[in-house]
Amino acid sequence: MGFHNFMGNTPILKSIQQQLSEGKNLSSFLFSGISGIGKWTLAHYISKALNCKKLSNDFCDSCTSCLKINKNIHLDVKTYSPDGTFIKINQMRELNKEVFFKPFEGKHRVFIIDQAHHLRIEAATSILKTLEEPPDTSSIILITDSSRDLLATIRSRCQTFHFSPLESHILQKILKQQSTFSPEDIPLVENLSEGSLGKALTLDLNQYRKARGELIIALDACIDNLSYHQARKVMDYLTSFKQKDRFNSNLNILQKLVRDIFILKIDPSGGMITNIDLHQKLNILSRKVTFQQIRAAAQSLDWLTKGLERNLNKNLALDQFLFTLSGLTRPSSTF
Ligand SMILES: [Zn+2]
Repeated sequence: MGFHNFMGNTPILKSIQQQLSEGKNLSSFLFSGISGIGKWTLAHYISKALNCKKLSNDFCDSCTSCLKINKNIHLDVKTYSPDGTFIKINQMRELNKEVFFKPFEGKHRVFIIDQAHHLRIEAATSILKTLEEPPDTSSIILITDSSRDLLATIRSRCQTFHFSPLESHILQKILKQQSTFSPEDIPLVENLSEGSLGKALTLDLNQYRKARGELIIALDACIDNLSYHQARKVMDYLTSFKQKDRFNSNLNILQKLVRDIFILKIDPSGGMITNIDLHQKLNILSRKVTFQQIRAAAQSLDWLTKGLERNLNKNLALDQFLFTLSGLTRPSSTF
């Protein structure tokens, strides 16, 4: 084990390694970027490298120090996460105190603030001075997938690294090594996870395919103009889920399908679509719609997504989408 196992975001890794090898004082960092792309992993790698008993500027993953950090029981490596919805002032008061303690059992104290965008404002302002001048024996690493929700005064006191989504070939390589997905499913999983390993590893592919199957029935019925009512029935089923998350997830699947049909209208080769395992079926659907029809349907779905933020009537909006897709006209006054 060691830093060489870290995959993706090579410039960030190199910069961290260089700072470690130059013996620079690693004071306050901010790791930002979507979840599941290695921010937390790198923070842990740094904690191990700063405390490893066998290696300097890298870590062995076999000494007592590395093993304790892996188990989250090392006294000098502490993680703060939201207590309920927020990271509270009491937690940051503790950090403000502990940051000045000498290392208990290792060489360097590391404080990781996970989901730092959930810092309550008073908690955030309470650590400004600490972030600016932590002692030489302590480092603070803030992790966030929404850095714009952090106070500017927090951001300006940290050395910021913006992590990028993982490149396609890297994500596929990791999935082959670490996941239970079949080799045939990996390209689809990679497309659906949008560069996030975390998203890929938690993806329920069976559930995705089940919901997608229902949506395809609706699209098919609608595009064929067989039955608006049949399409509406499927949509009603998919919107009947009480949980908001479930509806949003179905809407997201629908958007991807419509986007794929739109892309296939321009480029039938399928190189750019998400649902690559449905290439042929979606190609058939794309041949049945006009460019204007599918473009208008995609637009009406975009309106629906944006409208949800202002409590738009979901059923009316989906109705509009189905009418647009089937090529029927309907006054847009329902919006
Ligand atoms: Zn070690």
